[in-house]
Order: sequence, then structure tokens, then C-alpha cells
Amino acid sequence: MNNTPKVYLDNAATTPLDPRVLDSMLPYFRESFGNPSSVHFFGQRAERAVDEARETVATYLKCKPGEIIFTSGGTESDNLAIRGAALASWKKNGSKHVLISPVEHHAITHTANQLQNLHGFEIELLPVDEYGMVHPDSVSRLLRPDTALVSVMYANNEIGTINPINDIGEVCQEHGIPFHTDALQAAAYLSLNVDDLRVNLMSLGSHKFYGPKGIGVLYIRDGTEVTPIQTGGSQEYGYRAGTHNVPYIVGFAKALEIVQSKREKHSMALQQKRDEIIELVIENIPGSFLTGHPSARLPNHASFVFEGVDGNTLLTALDAKGFACSSGSACKTGNPEPSAVLTSLGINQEIALGSLRISLGIHTKSDEITKFLDVLPGTVNNVRKLCI
Ligand SMILES: *Cc1c(COP(=O)(O)O)cnc(C)c1O
Repeated sequence: MNNTPKVYLDNAATTPLDPRVLDSMLPYFRESFGNPSSVHFFGQRAERAVDEARETVATYLKCKPGEIIFTSGGTESDNLAIRGAALASWKKNGSKHVLISPVEHHAITHTANQLQNLHGFEIELLPVDEYGMVHPDSVSRLLRPDTALVSVMYANNEIGTINPINDIGEVCQEHGIPFHTDALQAAAYLSLNVDDLRVNLMSLGSHKFYGPKGIGVLYIRDGTEVTPIQTGGSQEYGYRAGTHNVPYIVGFAKALEIVQSKREKHSMALQQKRDEIIELVIENIPGSFLTGHPSARLPNHASFVFEGVDGNTLLTALDAKGFACSSGSACKTGNPEPSAVLTSLGINQEIALGSLRISLGIHTKSDEITKFLDVLPGTVNNVRKLCI
């Protein structure tokens, strides 16, 4: 390790824990350690903390506290939504058709693939436009009487595109088909009002909004049928067995409260910085292209592909200069595999390997961005020479 100051530009991967969130959690590791399912004073105190956290989360989703299920994170919420709702629809009316977008997180796509391989579900991919956006008319076109579930992410982690969730929700609602959205990336910056969004199911995870890792929420609208995928005790209304992770549940609620109450202010400030990055990269680096939607995108998210550049080499070179970014590609030396998200937008395989994602956070400083933009063109140029 050298002494170069480190600049963190990878907030779509995870965010630093807000110190106020940590403070809210600590009493539940110490004196308030009880099991919420116990009858005595210690249990009651812990139960009260879980109840209050559930109420806080419900306030920001504009739903009932009983519609909030705490899970171990975004991945588990996605698993419970996809597997749980698909199996419940199958049991109820034999439906085995599932519609998802091709740009979903692996927590969705791999779960859907397992439903296909293990249980004979038919998984159909919705078309996306060149920005990775799903349009409600294509949902309308592909819905069938035997559709068990539709799942479309709120905002994309690799390319930042925001989907018209409320319009897609309206189509699903008209046909009475359960609709799920993965809102992991959206929660820090967009409205989570579940009635406006017209969702039946919505996944959240607090480490994407300055809360702890390993804790998530699945919103389940009253009346939406979901088969539990983790069985055991009767916690979480029977949807998710297991002793409550009390400190993390408290931390989740605290983090959501902090970030949602400031989301408009944060969005405005970040959007300006994001647009400056996009403008200067496209202007100063030949052979560079924005990926994802130019305006309907997360305010903290800028993503690119560069012609003739290996994305992983670029990341390593930037890391050596003190900048932590990410690439959309799962490229490994000797076995380059471009990101399925990027190729589904129609970007050719070779260019898709030269991807870079810059995801800002609410703590990113302007001078950090200036330094990054000073260094990036030269670094891309150097990596390009290596790749020829
Ligand atoms: C991070 C992320 C997940 C997975 O959440 P974990 O809490 O890390 O398991 C799922 N979907 C999206 C869009 C994400 O960004």
C-alpha cells in the first residue's frame, strides 16, 4: 500500500456506514440484547425496537407496518420475492410464466433460472431499449393469463437507468399480475411510495444507503401471496423464520430515515456533479460513450465504455492512482466475458469489455471529482496503448 489519498467512487457497490446509524445500533449489541420473541422485559425491549423500526420504514414506503418483512439483505429479499411469489402463483392457479428484464441483478436472474431448471417455470425476458429501459407497452404485450410474476428493477446498478415503475405497475395491476421491483439502488435518491409505484413487492438493502450490510426489507402488499423460502419460527408474519437481527433492523430504519428525509437535496447536489463528469469525459476522451439513459438515470451514477480499453486494466491503473471505481464487466484475464447488461443494450462485445462505472456518494467532494477528471484521460490513454 502506498500513501496516495484514496478517493471512493464506488457507492453503487456499497456505502460507508453513517456514524449516527452505528450509534443507533450499539445499545442493541450491549444492554438491549434480548430476543424479541421472549416474554420477559429483555424480550419486550427488543420487540419494541423492532416494532418501531418497522413503523419508521412503513412511513417512508407509505404502507402498513405489517407489510414490511426484514430479511438478511437485498439478495434474500429478491429471492423471497421471485421464488416466493412465483411458487405461490403456481400453487394458487398453476401459473408458470415469469417476466423479468434482461438487466436485472444476479439475485433476480439466477433465482429465475433456478425456477426454470428445478420447477419447469418459463422465464421470458422483456425487451429493453438502447438505454436499458423497459417500456410498459412491451410488458402489456408479453403478459399472459398464466403469468405468475413480473419483475423489473427500479434503477440499474451498472448503467444507472431509472425504469418507469409506476407505468409498468399500472399495466400489471390492470391484469391482476403480481409486480416486483428491486429498489436497491433507488432507495437513496428516489421516492419509495409503494402506492405511487403500484408495486406488490419491493426489495431494499441498507448498505446501499449508508446503513449496515446484511440487512434488507421486502415490502409485501397485503393480499399478495408469497410462499416462505426460509421456514422455521413464526417471525416476520411467517414469511421469514429466524431470530430477528435487532441491531441491524434498528440500523436499517435509522439509515432509511436519514437518507429519505434528505433525498431531494442530495439528488440535486449530486446530479450537477454527475453531469459535469459525463460532459468532461465525453469531451476529453476520444472513443468514449455514456452507457444508460442520459437523463432518466440515478443522480450519483455515471457509466461509460471506452473503445480499445480493457476495463479491468483501467480499474487497476486507477486504483494505483488512488481512485476506487468499478467496471460493469466480469472480465478475467484470459477469459474475457462482457457484462450481459451491456450486451443486452446492443453494445458490441469488445467495447463492452472497456466499461467504467463512477458512482458518487453524499460525501463525495468536488475537489475529489476534479482530481479524478484530471487523471482519467491520461490513464485511459495509457491503458489503450497496452491493449493494442
Ligand atoms: C446490491 C444489490 C443487490 C444485492 O443486495 P445485497 O444486500 O448486497 O445482497 C441486489 N440488487 C441490486 C440492484 C443491487 O444493487
